[in-house]
Amino acid sequence: MNKLNAKIPDGPLAEKWTRHKASLKLVNPANRKKLDIIVVGTGLAGSGAASTLGELGYNVKVFCYQDTPRRAHSVAAQGGINAAKNYKNDGDSVFRLFYDMIKGGDYRAREANVYRAAEVSNLVIDHYTAIGVPFARDYGGLIDNRSFGGVQVSRTFYAKGQTGQQCLLGGYGALTRQIQAGTVTMYSRRELLDIVVVEGRARGIIARNLITGEIERHAAHAVVLATGGYGTIYYLSTLAVNSNGSAAWKAYKKGALFANPSFIQIHPTSIPVLNEFQSKLTLMSESLRNDGRVWVPKEKGDKRNPNDIPEEDRDYYLERRYPAFGNLVPRDVASRAAKERCDAGYGVGDTGLSVYLDFRDAIQKQGAKAIENKYGNLFEMYEKITGESPYNTPMRIYPAGHYTMGGLWVDYNLMTTIPGLFAIGEANFSDHGANRLGASSLMQCAGDGYFIIPYTIADYLSDQIKVARFDTKRPEFEEAANNVKGRIDKLLAVNGKETVTSFHKRLGKIMWDYCGMYRNEEGLKKALTLIKELEEEFWKNVKVPGSIEGVNQELEKACRVADYFEMAKLLCTDALNRKESCGAHFREESQTDTGEAKRIDSEFAYVAAWEYNGPDKEPTLHKEPLTFEYVKLQERSYT
Ligand SMILES: Cc1cc2nc3c(=O)[nH]c(=O)nc-3n(C[C@H](O)[C@H](O)[C@H](O)COP(=O)(O)OP(=O)(O)OC[C@H]3O[C@@H](n4cnc5c(N)ncnc54)[C@H](O)[C@@H]3O)c2cc1C
Repeated sequence: MNKLNAKIPDGPLAEKWTRHKASLKLVNPANRKKLDIIVVGTGLAGSGAASTLGELGYNVKVFCYQDTPRRAHSVAAQGGINAAKNYKNDGDSVFRLFYDMIKGGDYRAREANVYRAAEVSNLVIDHYTAIGVPFARDYGGLIDNRSFGGVQVSRTFYAKGQTGQQCLLGGYGALTRQIQAGTVTMYSRRELLDIVVVEGRARGIIARNLITGEIERHAAHAVVLATGGYGTIYYLSTLAVNSNGSAAWKAYKKGALFANPSFIQIHPTSIPVLNEFQSKLTLMSESLRNDGRVWVPKEKGDKRNPNDIPEEDRDYYLERRYPAFGNLVPRDVASRAAKERCDAGYGVGDTGLSVYLDFRDAIQKQGAKAIENKYGNLFEMYEKITGESPYNTPMRIYPAGHYTMGGLWVDYNLMTTIPGLFAIGEANFSDHGANRLGASSLMQCAGDGYFIIPYTIADYLSDQIKVARFDTKRPEFEEAANNVKGRIDKLLAVNGKETVTSFHKRLGKIMWDYCGMYRNEEGLKKALTLIKELEEEFWKNVKVPGSIEGVNQELEKACRVADYFEMAKLLCTDALNRKESCGAHFREESQTDTGEAKRIDSEFAYVAAWEYNGPDKEPTLHKEPLTFEYVKLQERSYT
């Protein structure tokens, strides 16, 4: 049985959203106060949704596990946010942004959703500017933009290297206004541990209060997950250490389908692993590839100081292999090219697992001050971590786990397969296919939160105004709360010898080795066996000190890592099923003569959406066929 109905509206691509909005049902302002909405997450997606829904008059409860909503992971975004403004008069348009995203995603995203994301991008930029986000300005006073990978126009708006932080502060200000106005209630330091489904609809959540340890029940007419991505499954990634995939995973186990779980983006420009004690990797933004040139020595094992290596001994391999896009090829392409050079013995640094990102030429041409204006805080961050100044010595970079294109399957209304459960931002799968283009995530997250969900959730809620508020003593809440408590008790009872972090590191290594940048059938099968063995060991030997009461960060980690063991198996199963290469999913068995990803459109032009069948059962695969009416399927080329 195929459970998937994407509900893509009829009509020409450019008119679908406008027509759809006009056909969606509304909720009368007087009735909105009768309706409760839970929003989980306060990043760009969640803060946008919560403040807008509050302003509209719904009764909103918003949750995050940090101590304040403004610490959501969106704060880490550096390089910028896309919009099809065409301020540079360089040929940009909504259609071109749509086209770049479809091509960048290697033709594994839905045309209608992607077009809409591009369409609302201009509203997003106007909105953030209006609420005070201090975007960089050009000499004429317009907000300025720069280029990002995989495109030939300039459309990335930025606030130095702190774009996410500045947008989040803007969104936080608007959210705080609603909290003050009483339309939004903020629950920080709460972690969602289950979704409550009543008569087939999402009606609430179970959350642990991370300060008191209390297991709380919260009811609502609809639930919106804006819980971000699960890149920390690799342990070392560019994400914050507490980012996790548990909320989406709980939704999956309650009946929401999980789409393309193995589509994880590896970012080419992270500071490389420096030692085995690191708990995270730090991103150096893609924006740096506007001015930085990527190279390795032409001679294997050339240990000279990079500044002593003359021009003729340098291999600017991206410019050589991809002359049309040069250093600004998309992330999947740049990551693989770096790994290829390092595997072939040309890597630099003590481990040989890094390549240079060099600003020498840009500083000579533009001056150090101009470079500092654009990237000053990134250079500072790099110097603090490595002790080397990028003004004098090229940066060393290497690929690292970064962003999840996979996520909860949603229809055009951003609703999962559980009625009343919506997923927005990075938590859903919808817009980036098999590879996200830089600066398109903030754009999508804010677009979902501010300009899409307020319309589509009203359509769902329009027939709910007579549904009374839910009593959290109902058996469905009781059962979900007991299950959460049972799992926590089980974790605490193991009382083994190995820390949660140690297990997470070991799981991350399996995932990186076999389900990371390169994947093959043998490796993925091996990973499945290794994950199962390690999971069994975890449940026999993990040490979670303390109790359920009060602050217990080891317990928080244990809950997340226990979910990652389960999720890791689904990722490998999905990667095993998709025998083609596409975007960031590179199956070694499917490559072109020149080592590029080779799609197999005749067999795999679909979204793989997985259904949970129980703890020891194989999930069921549902396929949503992808059809391309406006963009011709072709081999992706950046040469
Ligand atoms: C280092 C870095 C730099 C980046 N730079 C860029 C960039 O320049 N441009 C760009 O477009 N994209 C960038 N990205 C990607 C982009 O930042 C993210 O995809 C985006 O911010 C995700 O936003 P979000 O609102 O979906 O979720 P997040 O900002 O990740 O927020 C998740 C929210 O959910 C809450 N949450 C999660 N789980 C639970 C739970 N179980 N219970 C309660 N609350 C929960 C968290 O507390 C948080 O509030 C970058 C990513 C990284 C890692």
